[in-house]
Amino acid sequence: MARHLITSAIPYINGIKHLGNLVGSQLPADLYARYLRARGHEVLYLCATDEHGTPAELAATKAGKPVADYCAEMHEVQSKIAEGFRLSFDHFGRSSSEANKTLTQHFAKVLDEQGLIHEVSETQMYSKTDGRYLPDRYIEGTCPNCGFDSARGDQCDNCTKQLDPVDLINPHSTISGSTDLEMRETKHLYLAQSQMKDQIEEWIDTRVDWPVLTTSIAKKWLNDGDGLQDRGITRDLDWGVPVQKGDAPWPGMEGKVFYVWFDAPIEYIACGQEWVDAGKGTDWERWWRTDKGADDVRYTQFMGKDNVPFHTLSFPVTILGSGEPWKLVDYIKSFNYLNYDGGQFSTSRGRGVFMDQALEILPADYWRWWLLSHVPETSDAEFTWESFQSGVNKDLADVLGNFASRVTKFCRSKFSEAVPEGGTPGAAEATLIADMTAKIREYEHHMEAIEIRKAAAALRGAWVLGNEYLQEVAPWTTFKTDPEQAAMQIRLALNLIRLYSVISAPFIPDACADLLKAMQTDDDSWPTDVPAALELLPAGHAFTVPDVTFRKITDDERADWQQRFAGTRG
Ligand SMILES: [Zn+2]
Repeated sequence: MARHLITSAIPYINGIKHLGNLVGSQLPADLYARYLRARGHEVLYLCATDEHGTPAELAATKAGKPVADYCAEMHEVQSKIAEGFRLSFDHFGRSSSEANKTLTQHFAKVLDEQGLIHEVSETQMYSKTDGRYLPDRYIEGTCPNCGFDSARGDQCDNCTKQLDPVDLINPHSTISGSTDLEMRETKHLYLAQSQMKDQIEEWIDTRVDWPVLTTSIAKKWLNDGDGLQDRGITRDLDWGVPVQKGDAPWPGMEGKVFYVWFDAPIEYIACGQEWVDAGKGTDWERWWRTDKGADDVRYTQFMGKDNVPFHTLSFPVTILGSGEPWKLVDYIKSFNYLNYDGGQFSTSRGRGVFMDQALEILPADYWRWWLLSHVPETSDAEFTWESFQSGVNKDLADVLGNFASRVTKFCRSKFSEAVPEGGTPGAAEATLIADMTAKIREYEHHMEAIEIRKAAAALRGAWVLGNEYLQEVAPWTTFKTDPEQAAMQIRLALNLIRLYSVISAPFIPDACADLLKAMQTDDDSWPTDVPAALELLPAGHAFTVPDVTFRKITDDERADWQQRFAGTRG
């Protein structure tokens, strides 16, 4: 038994995420957490909402709510949806928590003591009417390049030219509409990432087992152009962690907050404290402090490829730069993008399926299975309704669901609703057991390596073996001449249903819980010894015929959904 710390990239607070977001971090992390728990390991799986920064302020303004209220409400919404998808976080925290505030201020203090923080003077647009500095997205004006009249301070959406707020013609504040703007000097704190370059590179070079996708992105950022750059860690905003040196003021930094990229990853650690504060755990330091037991912990992070630079460089700079014994990540599993039906998912255009909508039309397991078995591991992947329909109908309904249904119904009609006795296993059973053992070992191997598509294929393979066995021995035919032999075949098949419900649960937890319940057992022990696992339900053990485990998606539904999710969420 080992100890595993797992985090998935923390979703930003401003709205409900689409399936592409889900499959790129939280869902695979949940799969891994469930698998490790099923194997008897001690697991702490943490996630949180990322709540600070300008986009949260903008979304709250749009919703007509104070930003703190908006974030509290959206956290509830995201928690409920996560529960709907059966994401088994040990805690789902908030980056706006007291714990994260204190810890972020602590890191800033120790990084400063290590000589890794310096002040930089820069100029930024200030609105006298609003009484505040305006982040780039809060400024609009006419594009000097194409004449578009609603170009943002950072970019023109019409001609895509990257802009500086001073480039805009007739700039105005998007908060008040005021044109009374001026460039003012302001001071910000910078994290000296460049000083840490060699140390970070040395550390990455020791991560020999990382996926190529992860290390290649990290190396590019370390070495391309001028290499790893120092980075501003403060902003002139109201919403965020106030800039302090620990619990002491930071002279010259009054009224400023830490930049969201700095405090967000620290929430991974703070979330452990929140987990304890919520009464769910007793000791977070044994997971996070190498001087307090975390040396034995294996820490795995899950994220989309766009998040790799922060997790391989910026957050490790914070950790290593502090000189304190915090746990560093051991393995980073990163993902490519999931596209949607010939294009991209688009939050702004409402294109694609969003997490809440998905649960309205089908149970979580249907989505979990398709998404995980098509996870964008080695390249981008694409969601199409045809592929989704086929994955659900073939794998879940025809293979797994049909097996459970056929076996239990046949037993009820020819024997009873109890495991039948009699008969002697022969060559066909020996072959099945050998093949099943090999397939399950293969599945375990892929799950341990977090090779998710391969694991899904091995699991599907295990389901297929059961069906092939049934086809071959045909108990419905055997029964006519040798009922005892048919009883033995069905006894084995009923035990296979229990075994499937155990090994498949990390992918499709609800259906597996139903199957286990139908088998009237709560023995969900892992089939380390496959022959023994297939004799676990003895003759005479009662069961019930499960309700339809998986229904098929019709062509009409598919066509309907395809149209409904083509764009403009309404
Ligand atoms: Zn333009």
